[in-house]
Amino acid sequence: MEMTMNAYVTGLARVASAAPVALTDTSVEDRLRAFINGRVFDRPTLVLDCDAVVAKYHALARGLGQGTLIHYAMKANPAPEVLRALAAEGCGFDAASRGEIELALAAGAVPEKISFGNTIKRGSDIAYAHAHGIDLFAADAEAELDKIAAHAPGARVFLRVLVGATGADWPLSRKFGCAPEMALRLMDRAAYLGLRPVGLSFHVGSQTRDPGMWTETLDAMAEIWQAGRAQGHDLTLINIGGGFPAFYGDPVLEAETYAARVAALVQARFGAATVMAEPGRGLVAEAGMIVAEVLLVSRKSEDDLCRWVYLDIGKFSGLAETMEEAIRYQFETPHDGGELGPCIIAGPSCDSADVLYETRPMQLPLALAAGDRVLIKATGAYTTTYSSVGFNGFPPLDLVVI
Ligand SMILES: *Cc1c(COP(=O)(O)O)cnc(C)c1O
Repeated sequence: MEMTMNAYVTGLARVASAAPVALTDTSVEDRLRAFINGRVFDRPTLVLDCDAVVAKYHALARGLGQGTLIHYAMKANPAPEVLRALAAEGCGFDAASRGEIELALAAGAVPEKISFGNTIKRGSDIAYAHAHGIDLFAADAEAELDKIAAHAPGARVFLRVLVGATGADWPLSRKFGCAPEMALRLMDRAAYLGLRPVGLSFHVGSQTRDPGMWTETLDAMAEIWQAGRAQGHDLTLINIGGGFPAFYGDPVLEAETYAARVAALVQARFGAATVMAEPGRGLVAEAGMIVAEVLLVSRKSEDDLCRWVYLDIGKFSGLAETMEEAIRYQFETPHDGGELGPCIIAGPSCDSADVLYETRPMQLPLALAAGDRVLIKATGAYTTTYSSVGFNGFPPLDLVVI
């Protein structure tokens, strides 16, 4: 056992030193490994370092600049410990439902720092938000404005605008936002309904690795902004949404630098406006590491070049963002440093959709075998809440906050 542990730790050290550039805070990973090593986990578990989330919040805040309102997109990871820590630092929250609002309030957030940013809201949820002092709502349709006017009369609204493809790894196109011309009409409509149209919002797409990709979208937003003001609306709030990237192996800028680049692009176009940002992934992804286990390594025929590696975690138990292989997580195994071979990675459930990486197989050590522990890096975002309640009897992703 001692031998195994030592080999394991050495293997990890080799991987860490072979990393191309120190683009990620290795001390966070070290803290997570220190917690994980030597502990037994009887089911897939996300270990999340709360201090790392707080540190990332401050890095983004420094980069975005004083005066920028950061509203954490809590769907990325609504762990109460994380919400409490962020609320204590003065961070705001972007909620999508009554459930998320309740979590934010329970974590100590003041209603003035909570926005209801989902463009698809239940009327009773709007009323609940309004009754609890929340006064900022998103909309991208006339019928949604009608709902807000009915359940939160006089509230401030921002209009979500549809943006074109920006090259994000996880695009948020089409479902949210309206065309620019419609946004202008909705400003008039909101004012007519007694609401206060205060600004615009957009989302460049999650995991937008290059800050330069914001330029085109911001140009388009600035045009609508000017037109809205010319139309007589006192627009004061530009909500730049999320999109701040995490390190999954492909180079990304350090959070503060990335945020500063984006802030400069925003500042050049919106000057004195109040800026709001809604980072989700960028705040929490790198703070977490999933501990998983190999259940089976097999080949489909004697001469199969690719091994199949079945883990105890899959698409239905936390790794939903592997859909279309959009997000490619980095794996660590006890055999890192040894000879590699291509693997198709799959989850444990009896559903053929539960395959994580097949189009682009992953290179993993040939020595990998059932019972091996696998660490999946930068999995603090969009994992616990994407986990089914117990498909096929497999337990949902467990969470430990350190
Ligand atoms: C999900 C979401 C975010 C967070 O996006 P990330 O790319 O994870 O930062 C921000 N704003 C809205 C409205 C969202 O729906």
